[in-house]
Amino acid sequence: MTNQSFRVEHRYLELPDSFYTRVQPKPLKGAKMVCFNHKLAGQMGFHVNNESDWTAVGAGAELLEGMDPVAMKYTGHQFGMYNPELGDGRGLLLWETVAPDGTRWDWHLKGAGTTPYSRFGDGRAVLRSTIREYLCSEAMHGLGIATTRALFMVSAKDPVRRESIETAAALMRVANSHIRFGHFEFAAYHEGPETLRALLEHVIALHFPHLIELPEDERHGRWFGEVVARTARLIADWQAVGFCHGVMNSDNMSIIGDTFDYGPYALLDDFDAGFVCNHSDHEGRYAYNRQPQVGFTNCQMLANALLPVMGEDAVRAGLEHYESAYNERFLQNMRDKLGLAETEPEDSSLIMDTLTLLHEHHVDYTRFFRALSNLHRDGHAPVRDLFVDRSVADEWLERYESRLTKETRAHDAREHAMRGVNPKYILRNYLAQQVIMEAQNGDYAPMKELLQVLARPFDEQPEFESYAALPPDWGKHLNISCSS
Ligand code: AMP
Ligand code: MG
Ligand code: MG
Repeated sequence: MTNQSFRVEHRYLELPDSFYTRVQPKPLKGAKMVCFNHKLAGQMGFHVNNESDWTAVGAGAELLEGMDPVAMKYTGHQFGMYNPELGDGRGLLLWETVAPDGTRWDWHLKGAGTTPYSRFGDGRAVLRSTIREYLCSEAMHGLGIATTRALFMVSAKDPVRRESIETAAALMRVANSHIRFGHFEFAAYHEGPETLRALLEHVIALHFPHLIELPEDERHGRWFGEVVARTARLIADWQAVGFCHGVMNSDNMSIIGDTFDYGPYALLDDFDAGFVCNHSDHEGRYAYNRQPQVGFTNCQMLANALLPVMGEDAVRAGLEHYESAYNERFLQNMRDKLGLAETEPEDSSLIMDTLTLLHEHHVDYTRFFRALSNLHRDGHAPVRDLFVDRSVADEWLERYESRLTKETRAHDAREHAMRGVNPKYILRNYLAQQVIMEAQNGDYAPMKELLQVLARPFDEQPEFESYAALPPDWGKHLNISCSS
């Protein structure tokens, strides 16, 4: 490795050994580097001149000195049902590194072959779903939303059977932590209070260091309250940008509040409050408008798991942070999107009525708020044009303009701030689909270009204007496979 300035510190191995099994990656054949995130590598403390130096590591064919791969054990509630059989079924935690700035990074190779927790799975990931995860983690990061990241990905020659035979791939997913709510459920329901306590203290020591010195009761209470609040704020951020996760099982909830596990996710095109992006979610359990409640339910599952060490009063107090943290963040996000710096009693109803309007008239969510961010520069037309019934738009615009008269900021200043929170470019499903098709034909350039655009979602990028277009008819409601 060239210019490495990080230190290796595989602290996960300090946990009781029931939390993992050592597993060697099963090498992929004929691997090729698809995409490498040089900027992220720089933040992590290394620099790469030759991307292909990393192909063998991505393929699971080579381990660097200090890498000690383990499959993590966790359990969790999937669609409301407890599943004790979970764990890393196709991903391995290779090591943890600490960047020169002190940031800790878990390196997790997803698609590295079977593990003791693979159940019926083949341990592999396909090119299509790996690109989707790469794109969305970087897009969310560009939007300023907490997320796991994509360091690099490879494709390979190995055939992988899904609905058809597909190309294998592997992603080096990195995050400050890969510990999930499900790790706590495993400890509580299968191990016992000592193991649970060890996990809890481990998470505090590594990720909540400001709490270490507190007396135990306070330390645990404050910690759980912070986990709950982070989760609530994350979901408020999803709602504000129109992100649908699709599989909010408790094993897909990060203990540090990152967006975790990009499966059948989607970003809304037309605003549809009840949108369900996961085709196997027949009951709409994880519909867009249910996400805030599901986030809370997942915190309750974590609370249940914590009972043996924290007691009922403490977990109850922690759970109380959810609603206030969610409401506060969501309200602030929506006020920012509408450019409301002053506080007026009518604001909450304006926000809710705006969302209802967008829902009823199937208005493109991203284009609407971006057009509002240029209202006094470009006039009403770009907003009106998003409505089939222009009179509905006019009526709403009149109400909005009247509310704006209570603002003290100049139009320019407000709209400048609004353009910093209302993205011009988002990862629309059809954009992902297009670059996947190109990649499946061996051309990764379109994927890289899309990543470049999504890294700066709030900036005008005139040369990439087409990426901000409304989805073409074929690109709306794509029935893409949710298998991964
Ligand atoms: P998910 O629905 O993506 O959260 O995955 C649920 C569980 O299934 C996790 O424990 C994964 O590791 C496991 N899993 C998913 N796909 C595979 C696969 N192809 N092979 C083995 N395990 C898998
Ligand atoms: Mg998962
Ligand atoms: Mg998944």
